[in-house]
Amino acid sequence: MRIDIITVLPELLDSPFGHSILKRAQQKGLVEVNVVNLRDYADDKHKSVDDYPFGGGAGMVMKVEPIAACIEELKTQRSYDEVIYMSPDGELLDQPMANRLSTLGNIIVLCGHYKGVDERVREHFITKEISIGNYVLSGGELAAAVLCDSIIRLIPGVISDETSALSDSFQDNLLAPPVYTRPAEFRGWKVPEVLLSGHAANIDKWRLELALARTKERRPELLKDK
Ligand code: SAH
Repeated sequence: MRIDIITVLPELLDSPFGHSILKRAQQKGLVEVNVVNLRDYADDKHKSVDDYPFGGGAGMVMKVEPIAACIEELKTQRSYDEVIYMSPDGELLDQPMANRLSTLGNIIVLCGHYKGVDERVREHFITKEISIGNYVLSGGELAAAVLCDSIIRLIPGVISDETSALSDSFQDNLLAPPVYTRPAEFRGWKVPEVLLSGHAANIDKWRLELALARTKERRPELLKDK
């Protein structure tokens, strides 16, 4: 999979993609993440990527020309399955959406800033708009990092124990059961006996029961679809 992220602040993305699972996924060649600096596509001498809004009002709007030039150049090199704009009014990111996006070949992710992008970008270049939650961030970079993390960890081979991603919360519409590690007893707080029993079938049964109970208690609406 290849992900091209278009941003005016490329350095904001260095850290999320430079460590741990996302870094290893790139090193293993399972995903290619290419961060594109939108300023490189600004055609005036000030390298401006934003301008005042028509009609007045507060805040700046990201200009259509640099974004058009950038996306069109990327498209001359390969075809893209989706051109995504991170936006608080987009479709809410959830696990089924991450699952679906993880099966794609090439995607572009556009990060907004200021008041957002000129509407003509959304009308003519964007195929999908995604929100990571009902709140407003100052820029799309952190949202893009969240989206990409949720996608990349699902690509086969990225997480070494490949059953691990499938046993996370929301896969199967169930929250994850509680987990424990050593010591088996701390300050008198004991790990459930069944987990120490070595009896795989009983452990699976216990985990399913607790996942169901936790889902019923915390997110009952997830069980309605089952
Ligand atoms: N004026 C816009 C918000 C702009 S916030 C509005 O009210 O809808 C600036 C940028 O941050 C957006 O263009 C978007 O790329 C990003 N952003 C902010 N909140 C986000 C969210 N919840 N999900 C995804 N992207 C978000």
